[in-house]
Amino acid sequence: MKYLIAANWKMHKTVAETLEYLEIFLPSVKDLFAVDIMIAPPFTALASASIKLDAAKKEGEYNVFLGAQNMFYAEKGAYTGEISPLMLNELNVDYVIVGHSERRQIFGEKDNLINNKVFSAIEHGIRPILCVGETLEEREQGITLKVVENQIRKGLAGLGADIQFVDIAYEPVWAIGTGKNATPEQAEEVHRFIRSLINELSKGNDDKTRILYGGSVKPENARDLIKQPNINGFLVGSASLDPKKFYQIITEVLEV
Ligand code: PEP
Repeated sequence: MKYLIAANWKMHKTVAETLEYLEIFLPSVKDLFAVDIMIAPPFTALASASIKLDAAKKEGEYNVFLGAQNMFYAEKGAYTGEISPLMLNELNVDYVIVGHSERRQIFGEKDNLINNKVFSAIEHGIRPILCVGETLEEREQGITLKVVENQIRKGLAGLGADIQFVDIAYEPVWAIGTGKNATPEQAEEVHRFIRSLINELSKGNDDKTRILYGGSVKPENARDLIKQPNINGFLVGSASLDPKKFYQIITEVLEV
């Protein structure tokens, strides 16, 4: 299984800053095919990033993919402020982050909406990265696995073997943007559980589904986390905003 190292820039970087970043980052990952790399800029910078990436791919070999941070499930309609899968298709977007904890907590996204987005993304050839994870309160109550199971069962409801077209990101909410990552053992316990759950739900068709860890991943902790057998890559927020740090995380993964 090829691991996936994904960057979630959240609401950071203008078009100019995005192009500046790619100018530095792309040469560092030229001809690097051992892992899949994904970058998810804000919507306003997607078109420019897409053009820049296409131009780079005409000049050399890059295993870098473009991601969106969110998507609505309908193709078009009266959904003010939303972005459709057709709009992402037009920009050659390969991945979409779905159900990020910030979408769940700040924007009130519920599992059935997230499930609709997962279905729509797959239908339009965009690979969803379904984010799940417990809050600190839930961890302290000892219900982490129950919370994650519920989010996965509902988020992937009705998919069956199509789970092979999805990646999962386990992102403990208490570890996101806090500088406090889950220990490799804490993460591995949940990843192992997710692997057995998706194996059951997909009836064994989960060998292409990567289970990423997300939550304060940085060059300093990447190596110990990626050594865990059920961690198949990362979803990186803060540390991905610096092209050098993001590249360092990639090299840590390659060295293990
Ligand atoms: C994220 O928001 O997906 C994330 C993992 O953020 P950070 O790396 O900053 O914790």
